[in-house]
Amino acid sequence: MMGLGWGWEKVSLQGQGMIRYLMPPQLDDILTVTLFLKGPLMGKTGGCLSGISQRLFGRDNGIPLVAPSQVHGTRMIEALPSRSLPARPEGDALLVRRPGVFGSLRFADCIPVVGISVRPRPWVLLVHSGFVGTSRGVTGEALRETMKVTGSASLEEAHFWVGPGIGPCCYSRKLDDPMTREGLKQLPGDSWRVEKGMAYFDLPSAIITTLYDMNVPEGNIIRIDQCTSCSSSDYYSYRKGDRTGKSFLLAGFREGFHKPDLWWENKI
Ligand SMILES: [Zn+2]
Repeated sequence: MMGLGWGWEKVSLQGQGMIRYLMPPQLDDILTVTLFLKGPLMGKTGGCLSGISQRLFGRDNGIPLVAPSQVHGTRMIEALPSRSLPARPEGDALLVRRPGVFGSLRFADCIPVVGISVRPRPWVLLVHSGFVGTSRGVTGEALRETMKVTGSASLEEAHFWVGPGIGPCCYSRKLDDPMTREGLKQLPGDSWRVEKGMAYFDLPSAIITTLYDMNVPEGNIIRIDQCTSCSSSDYYSYRKGDRTGKSFLLAGFREGFHKPDLWWENKI
């Protein structure tokens, strides 16, 4: 799970499961990214976003949290205080590049993509990429937009995590569904197979192909290879019956926060 000083770890803190994204050394003191899995954060708030904010940062915390309304599109928005809750701007990709505002997205089988870079200044990109979003190329679109607004000439120094989400073991679609046929047309041939009248898609693999196409080095990509449907005791899974609960991906800059403020990073 660990690369050269970066990677991820799955932990549980007082019953709250989470994946901690372990940053490369040059971003370790700058960015914090966590995916909250099944546990009290979602369970005790019923998924209410202001409730989640209070459990994370404390009551009346005043910390701007951007939580876009996810529509399976390709639009990227930037995390700005003016777009924070209670506003719900539409978007499936979120760029965070300034301290003082947190960004978030929610998942139940769809694939979370996290990209980070120090070039030209630190940024973190969150992407919600389900079947429709992956077919529409949301990750590629969001990265092109990120490069444009940050002025990055290349992604050779960026690092990415893809997953956890529903795996090719479980993600099947009916062949006669027009959207399935569209996916077969759009997605790379090695990211799907047809078996007994069903198409099985490997969405993380399709996303990783996009990253290669954009010249991200292979060694800078980690696949968090956990299937949310196979492991639905730990992960929210729409296919396994979770209709409102979702995993909660949170990212922001550490500047302005002391270690104890981010309680979910306490050692266990
Ligand atoms: Zn599975």
